[in-house]
Amino acid sequence: MKAWRFHGFGDMRLDDVPEPRCGPGQVLVEPICVQPSVTEAQLAQGIPTLAYDRIKRRLETDAPVQLFGHEFCVRVIEVGPGVERFRPGDRVAARAKLPCGECRLCKGERSDRCRRGPVIGFDLPGCFAELACLPAIALVLVDDRISDSEAACLQSLSDSVAAVETAQLQMGDTVAIFGQGSMGLECLQVARLSGAGRIITVDVREEACAVSRELGADHALNARSIDVVKTIRELTEGIGADVVFECAGGSPKQGLAGHQSLLQAVDAVRSAGKIIGVSWFGGPLELNVDLLRERSLRYLFPDISTQAHLEHTVRLVASGRVRLKPTITHVLSGIESVPRAFEITANKGKFQAINPAQVMMKLAGTTDCGAPGRSRDK
Ligand SMILES: [Zn+2]
Repeated sequence: MKAWRFHGFGDMRLDDVPEPRCGPGQVLVEPICVQPSVTEAQLAQGIPTLAYDRIKRRLETDAPVQLFGHEFCVRVIEVGPGVERFRPGDRVAARAKLPCGECRLCKGERSDRCRRGPVIGFDLPGCFAELACLPAIALVLVDDRISDSEAACLQSLSDSVAAVETAQLQMGDTVAIFGQGSMGLECLQVARLSGAGRIITVDVREEACAVSRELGADHALNARSIDVVKTIRELTEGIGADVVFECAGGSPKQGLAGHQSLLQAVDAVRSAGKIIGVSWFGGPLELNVDLLRERSLRYLFPDISTQAHLEHTVRLVASGRVRLKPTITHVLSGIESVPRAFEITANKGKFQAINPAQVMMKLAGTTDCGAPGRSRDK
């Protein structure tokens, strides 16, 4: 079968590899729609971010190696021994970070706290291939009301659900969200469903602000044209937002905010308020911890998403309570267009993409077909 393998950073090739075999507890699947995450798209080029050292080591010891591809909608072809939840023909999506199943935490039903298990696409081959073998424990059945494209976003949405849960919103809380990429827009929608009062969003791209308004932001601020901290303070009678989600930080080369958005989050949150750190910065950064101490700020990081988060995610999208379609801007066709999807996803600002670029793996041709009414890949 054909699979994308990395021979080094910036060197991905469509190679012929042996078909995977389905072992106990595993499911053999055929990828339908797959998207690189922003992290994967950066790592592919060797840009330091989450898991950079781990990927570098794997390339040094295992290359050529199948990497990435943990955000997907796939169809089950065959189930291995002991798998009872799925049947051939089922459409499924997944969470990426898995518990080990063997440690004290896993045995004590606290597997959500286990960090010893594998990550799909990092430790296990992902879905940038014609076939993939996945642990059944990672998977969830996709409701018929959810399209293939939307299903490929469920992994990211389950992380956003976990992030909003970490915030423990109080009814009527004023929420500010820095960054309106896919996770920022997901946090916006999940926060609205979780008791948020007024929601103020921030981005530097007008197209992202427009989608944010469409999906329910009360104020979508463009940080290029206004002082966002001042505006958030004015909108909250000088007090600041109760909770700030920071989803904009990261490499400025990729159009992200460096750590500027974190500093703004600290200035925009009220005293004793919470900052939820969703971004990855790719290295150490300078932060005045005394200021956080003085103002009793809580800088919290989301839990990893669990099976329960993933199942909730399916309900949210199937019932129409969370809308993903307006965020899907770039859909490519055919396994050959995977590198193009990485390029667009690594440079979302340049390509006016909101969600990562998706690849319909089975369709022939390489025509870029943006969602109706949205900017197309140029
Ligand atoms: Zn464990």
